[in-house]
Amino acid sequence: MKLGALEAGGTKMVCAIGDENGKILKKESFPTLTPEETIPKLYDFFEKEGVEALGIGCFGPICLDKSSPEYGHITTTPKLAWQNYDMVGAFKGLGVPIGFDTDVNGSVLGEHTWGIGKGLHSVLYITIGTGVGVGIILDGKLVHGMMHPEGGHILLTRHEKDLEFPGNCPFHKNCFEGLCAGPAIEKRWGKKGAELQDQPFVWELEAYYIAQALVDYVCIASPQRIILGGGVSHQLQMLPLVREEFKKQMNGYIATKEMEDLDTYIVAQSLDDEQGIMGALKLGLDAM
Ligand code: ADP
Ligand code: ZN
Repeated sequence: MKLGALEAGGTKMVCAIGDENGKILKKESFPTLTPEETIPKLYDFFEKEGVEALGIGCFGPICLDKSSPEYGHITTTPKLAWQNYDMVGAFKGLGVPIGFDTDVNGSVLGEHTWGIGKGLHSVLYITIGTGVGVGIILDGKLVHGMMHPEGGHILLTRHEKDLEFPGNCPFHKNCFEGLCAGPAIEKRWGKKGAELQDQPFVWELEAYYIAQALVDYVCIASPQRIILGGGVSHQLQMLPLVREEFKKQMNGYIATKEMEDLDTYIVAQSLDDEQGIMGALKLGLDAM
């Protein structure tokens, strides 16, 4: 089976061909310019390969309401050239089934189908990278709701040593993304996260905020496992700090068998940063 997968991001578009087992056979990246410049290249890629279905994991916000004329569109993105762009419509000419969801729902789907979320009915995936995004599978189904969760913008309580930082979200002073994503780290410390590896407080602060967000997600969504991905999560020394802080902040309130061992409850991504594109393959497969 020849499936097409598109991971549509704000900086690059990753196109891949793969099969129903999640095996990626070919992959190519294109910079995200304007739709007029970028989309024809992606379209050609999939047309030449003769894919049987296409899955798109897309940066958001996007419209996922199939009864709406806006279904398949990118909606209020700050990337102006892409505002109200009909992403699904752009590929209709291929004449194949198209699956469409958020990039992070793609990632959670990838991990749930082929990675560390396999076999569980409820999994939550967080990417901490250029932004913060959350994808959720509950009782085996991707969570959409009114639109889709925007878990990167939940509001957090400031650490007492982080009261001065203005935050980095144009909408919120104290949201998860504005305090913790890669660009927020760079703005707060004047250096990229990768260059701050030897600064323990940088990661204690990250862990403090991430743990707070996790407590909220666990209380609301009740996932059986939480998976951390994205560039900032490459700082693996942060993971034990997150677990320790999570335990402290949860304070014993929820005690399930899944949460007995936090080393298996809060885990790093397991697919070598390929869960997004693999999840897009699965979106295509499911659309067939
Ligand atoms: P995107 O979110 O655009 O898909 P990434 O997940 O790679 O891409 O996130 C990029 C962000 O993550 C940047 O802000 C970058 O500084 C940060 N980042 C990337 N690698 C690391 C690292 N090893 N340690 C800390 N931060 C990192
Ligand atoms: Zn925000």
